[in-house]
Formats: sequence, C-alpha cells, structure tokens
Amino acid sequence: MNTDYRLQNLVDLGVATVDVRDVRGWSPWHQHGLTAGKATYVNPRDRDAFIQTVKHCHDNGLNYTLIGGGTATSKPGETDLFISTECLNALSIDTAAEELEVGAGVAIETAESYVAEHGWTLGQWMGSGATATIGGAIVTNATGILAGRYGNINEAVTMVEILDQSGKTSWISPAAYRITPDAIILGVRIPLWLSPDGRAVARFVGAGDPLAALRQVATARLMPAHMSVDQSGTITVIVEGEPHLETARYQLIAAILQKHGAVQDLSLDQGKHWDALLASNPWSPNATGAVWADRIVLTAAWTDYQQQLETWIQRASSAGAEVTWRAINPTPQGVRLILDVQLPGAKTAPDWLCV
Ligand SMILES: Cc1cc2nc3c(=O)[nH]c(=O)nc-3n(C[C@H](O)[C@H](O)[C@H](O)COP(=O)(O)OP(=O)(O)OC[C@H]3O[C@@H](n4cnc5c(N)ncnc54)[C@H](O)[C@@H]3O)c2cc1C
Repeated sequence: MNTDYRLQNLVDLGVATVDVRDVRGWSPWHQHGLTAGKATYVNPRDRDAFIQTVKHCHDNGLNYTLIGGGTATSKPGETDLFISTECLNALSIDTAAEELEVGAGVAIETAESYVAEHGWTLGQWMGSGATATIGGAIVTNATGILAGRYGNINEAVTMVEILDQSGKTSWISPAAYRITPDAIILGVRIPLWLSPDGRAVARFVGAGDPLAALRQVATARLMPAHMSVDQSGTITVIVEGEPHLETARYQLIAAILQKHGAVQDLSLDQGKHWDALLASNPWSPNATGAVWADRIVLTAAWTDYQQQLETWIQRASSAGAEVTWRAINPTPQGVRLILDVQLPGAKTAPDWLCV
C-alpha cells in the first residue's frame, strides 16, 4: 500500500510522521474495509499538530478515522487511513476541583497509575485498560468492572474538550458533546476519588433465579461497586470504599441474595479474587484468522432481559457459534448483558450479528 502523496506535506513540515502498519490484533478492524489488515498511520507530533493534521485531511478530502488503542469492536473505522491520538497525552491533577485533566489519547491504565501515585483513583477498570484510551472509551461508551460505584466513563466525565467540524476547539458539557455530531475529543476532565481503604469480593452460588436476585439488589439501590452473574448462576459481588459503611452495605446485599436461595461460596476477601476477576476477562481470546470472536454488549430493561438473552443465544447457536454470557451492573432500570461469541472456522462477522 502506498502512503497517500497528500500526506507528504505534513511530513515535510515536521507536523506528523506517516507509516504503514498491520492493524490485526485484538479487534477485527481489518474486517471492516481494510485491505490485508494494513493501514496508514499518521502520527501528529503534538496537540497543535493533531489539529493541523485533521484540518489538512479535511481540506484535502482525505477520508480518515481516529484511532486510540484500536481495541474497539463496536465502532470500528471504515478507512485505511488512521490519525493516531497518541499525541493527545496531557495529564494534570486539579487538586482544588479534585479532577484529572487528561488528553484523549492517554490509555486508561496510564491515567489510573498517574492518579494512584497521588492517592486517588478514577475507578475505571476495563479489561482493555492497558491499551484503550480515554477518547476511545467515551466514544464506545465503555463500562469498567466497578461502574456500580464509579459510573461508566461517559457518566463520570464533567467536561469534554472538542475539536468541531469547523476546526474550533472548546470545552463543553458531556450533554453538549453528545449532541455535537462528529466532534473529536481532545481531552476531558474526570473526577478523582480517594483510593478505597478496603475492597471485598464475594461469590454466591445456587440462587434459583440469579438475575431476579440482581434486580432486587438494584431496586433496593444498594449499588455495589460490581455485581454480576454468569451463565452458571454464580453471582460475584464487589464492595469497596470505607470499610464500616461498605460492610453494612455488603451484609444487606448478602441477606437479599440468601433470601433468593444463594449461598456464599467463598469468605469475603480483600481482593485476592479481584485480580482473578480482572484476569478472567474473556474478551475475544481467539480473534485470529481461524476463529471469529466478538463481544456483544446490550442494555436490557428488567421487563425484557430474558427475552433479549434468549433471542441472542438462539441466534448464536443456530449459526453454530459458542456463546457465554454474563449480566453486569444492575440498576433499578435494567442490566447490561455481555455475550462473548466465538465462531470456529469463520473469518468475518456473520450477517446475523451485523445489527
Ligand atoms: C481485551 C479487551 C477487553 C475489553 N474490555 C472492555 C471492558 O472491560 N469494557 C468495555 O466497555 N469495553 C471493553 N473492550 C472494548 C474496547 O476496549 C473499548 O471499547 C475501548 O474503550 C476502546 O478504546 P480504544 O482507545 O481502543 O478505541 P479505538 O478502537 O481506538 O476507537 C474506537 C472508536 O472511537 C473513535 N475515537 C477514538 N479516539 C477518539 C477521539 N479522541 N475522538 C473521537 N473519536 C475517537 C475511533 O475512531 C473509533 O470509532 C475490550 C476490548 C478488548 C480487546
């Protein structure tokens, strides 16, 4: 693949470097219009160069897509020209406002490590956090494992700095961002939480209807940091924060689960199983040429979660796919369903998934 001559000007001016890379990896970007898994990457030197690069592409009719960590399957790009957001790497703590100002190209875990050095947490723990960026996470409405306590990143951010279609930059509210079409995120402000004093993880097994148990905990607005049920019916609960308060909250949750017939499977621990939980993220482990794999995330209301789950499981199995599911982050309105689908022998997404 040849690098487009229209990019040469940027290189000559020292605004950006351009190279051709293989984009195969975790996500099936290559299935969405890329030739042979290769793409041209434009790496602007810094934030001003990034703005100049975007303008240059607009002015020269170059069809580009932004790329952060490149881990998203839900919103893949449709061009073979990427502008990397890596140069949007600002990081600074506003102690008075207790907020982090962070560039859109910073990886979630980089931001977390930075604030952790100062005794804070952002509470955004995602399976892909080592690579996925702040900007990519907002665009894909990503949800961390502790969203029950910290919200997902879209709910958490207080301000968004955008580059709009006219080339203007401004700080706007998240609500205004959501109604600004095609806005590019340059950075955000996100609240800091004190690092929790304690964290407790527990597992329950044997509930008759574990999703009904989740619903009751959510309706009681007990909101643990994390609560999920997998298809074997095992319920995992994480509470964290100030130990006295959190212990009381935990006991109420445990009482509800026990009323539903669940039995505690392991004694409360201070996080040993937390690492196991993070490590067990089964996202696309086989997204190679030989096995097509993806994750489908659905938000279901309590009135129709069972029907949604059954429809998807049926679709998947009639196409010969293996599917495992989990339900996470129950709220009084509903629950998120995560389906991990694997299709051995297939290289591209089956039609029935393209909804
Ligand atoms: C192993 C693994 C684990 C995962 N775990 C989770 C998880 O726990 N929870 C979850 O919700 N998701 C998870 N995902 C999905 C994915 O990581 C998230 O959607 C992630 O937030 C994407 O971030 P990214 O930087 O990789 O985005 P990219 O893939 O680089 O980009 C995603 C979209 O955002 C656009 N974009 C990127 N940056 C900007 C910007 N600055 N301004 C405007 N548009 C932009 C891109 O053009 C693209 O359309 C996982 C994926 C993998 C592979």
